[in-house]
Amino acid sequence: MFDVAIIGAGVTGSAVARELSKYDVKVCILESENDVATGASRANSAIVHAGYDCVPDTMMAKLNVLGAKKMKQLCFELDVPYKNIGSLVLAFNEDEKKVLEELLIRAERNNVPDVRILNQRDSHIVEPNINKDIIASLYAKNASITSPYELNIALAENAVINGVEIILDFKVDKITKTDESFKLCAKDRCIDAKYVVNAAGLYADEISKLCNAGDFTIVPRKGEYMMMDRQESKKLHTVLFQAPSKMGKGVLVAPTVEETIFAGPTALDMADKEDTSTTLEGLEYLKKMSVKSVPSLNLGNVITQFAGIRAVLKEKHDFLIEESKQVKGFVQAAGICSPGLSASPAMGQEVVGILKDAGLELKINDNFNPIRRKYKSFREMTDSERSKAIIENPLNGKIICRCETVTEAEVVAAIHAPVPAVTIDAIKRRTRAGMGRCQGGFCMPRVMEIISRETGMNMGEILKASYGSNIILPNRKGVE
Ligand SMILES: Cc1cc2nc3c(=O)[nH]c(=O)nc-3n(C[C@H](O)[C@H](O)[C@H](O)COP(=O)(O)OP(=O)(O)OC[C@H]3O[C@@H](n4cnc5c(N)ncnc54)[C@H](O)[C@@H]3O)c2cc1C
Repeated sequence: MFDVAIIGAGVTGSAVARELSKYDVKVCILESENDVATGASRANSAIVHAGYDCVPDTMMAKLNVLGAKKMKQLCFELDVPYKNIGSLVLAFNEDEKKVLEELLIRAERNNVPDVRILNQRDSHIVEPNINKDIIASLYAKNASITSPYELNIALAENAVINGVEIILDFKVDKITKTDESFKLCAKDRCIDAKYVVNAAGLYADEISKLCNAGDFTIVPRKGEYMMMDRQESKKLHTVLFQAPSKMGKGVLVAPTVEETIFAGPTALDMADKEDTSTTLEGLEYLKKMSVKSVPSLNLGNVITQFAGIRAVLKEKHDFLIEESKQVKGFVQAAGICSPGLSASPAMGQEVVGILKDAGLELKINDNFNPIRRKYKSFREMTDSERSKAIIENPLNGKIICRCETVTEAEVVAAIHAPVPAVTIDAIKRRTRAGMGRCQGGFCMPRVMEIISRETGMNMGEILKASYGSNIILPNRKGVE
């Protein structure tokens, strides 16, 4: 019997798990996919928002501001990239300038420090390549960037190191409540837990209905992106937003922690929760909006497109984080759309506080270790570190991904990490193999061979990402 079962291994579920691992409780995360960080936490804008645009007195505002304050320390503990680069919201006319003034008032009400309106000249001093036609901008010094999937993976790994069990391939499809506990079942197995945390992202509404814990609706809102390679990196140093609308924060252009540049997201409400396709219209729109912010961008350097889906709560514009009013011991962490990444460092404490109020006994885990270190990437080493690394492990001398300088040693380390990576995309999220200009054209077969060698899977079994994404048809001649 687990004390707590968390449904969903996104950044929310993983942050809650890591927080619970500070206590002497038996915790599991149940995840329907074959890896952590496959939902919204995989594909988003990667911005640690300062917190000026949340509606005051909401859970969103509270957790965004607190989470942003804690993010730097958390990233340090977990060895996750974090850069404080500031953000500008650009105003191209008087109406948009009024929006900046409203955002400034919200910043004051949300207690967000270091936010101010800049005139045209000062905006260009902060970011010289922005459009000359802007008339003002809202500058938030504390806005930062991170790597969302790395944060998710690191939270999950640290939780595992501290005793949490992650059960992958477990799609919860039945929940039964008895007086004392919950029985959570997938197609082929069940587990028991005294408390449940619903962090199932897009499917949180369906999970809630499985045990009549509350009736709400999650609307999937797709956001498409385009990614440019490092050749554009000198053109941008801060996060650039345009004035927000009721659909979201608007299209941004921003550097990533890896010094590529990306633009997005679009915002389109959909019926299909799984549709992460990208479209020509989306790309055309992003091209138009990104050169509006930075006219000198060379769109010939776009290397890929991708999309993420926000889990938007239909009933109110806020996160739903509370113990179910209908079912004792069932805690909702639902409707975690943007700024859920920024809020994640505060999410764990919030949910654990609710579990405590619901009766969960929390004794300190004296062995909790907050530190997690990832396998050092060859790309980031000095020449002398590289020589030493190759002597220590010759696999450090074998380059698997040429675009991103990823070695065989890094791929092997990812496969044997506390949350093992055994798909092409899982390796990509941990090492960057396949994220460069050739988008995996060179490294994918090599990564497959290493996965096969290290795990014993045959080549036909290896998946790109989710189920059914086999790269080689198993019945082809020459493939077992
Ligand atoms: C386009 C876009 C841009 C964004 N930009 C930002 C940003 O810049 N800054 C920011 O702060 N936030 C941003 N966000 C929001 C942020 O990405 C989310 O708030 C956060 O990732 C939500 O994490 P989560 O763990 O709640 O959900 P998810 O990451 O979606 O995780 C939910 C998990 O539950 C699993 N699951 C679902 N059903 C079941 C089941 N039946 N059984 C078991 N497991 C199940 C899923 O497989 C998934 O792994 C953005 C989001 C999007 C989509």
